[in-house]
Amino acid sequence: MKINPDVIQQLIRQAQQDAPNETCGYLLGTGDTVTENYWMENIDHSPEHFSFAPKDQFAALKYARAHGLRILANWHSHPASPSRPSQEDLRLANDPGIRYAILSLHEGIHLNSFRILNGEVVDKEVHL
Ligand SMILES: [Zn+2]
Repeated sequence: MKINPDVIQQLIRQAQQDAPNETCGYLLGTGDTVTENYWMENIDHSPEHFSFAPKDQFAALKYARAHGLRILANWHSHPASPSRPSQEDLRLANDPGIRYAILSLHEGIHLNSFRILNGEVVDKEVHL
């Protein structure tokens, strides 16, 4: 999966704005290229976990469909931990058809994405 550089900048800004809480959203695009970040509220308002607002997920699907885009990844930030899935992230990653991207603000800025199958990482890509 490729992520356009301006989208990566948006993710960093959003993660910094919402820190110390985690922020989250969908990465939308076509083919395997992400062209848009779709912000969604973290209704947990927590530094250690996140949940999408169901109304935002529904709106995101509608938006993607209307613009001919696909949801390529689910992403969230780790303000104070590395860019790898926590045990909870692995447990909640139930869609093997998309990637899971994690932007870390811990010891520099890092962005990796993962494909997760049955609670295990089966593929990792480094984006930043
Ligand atoms: Zn996480």
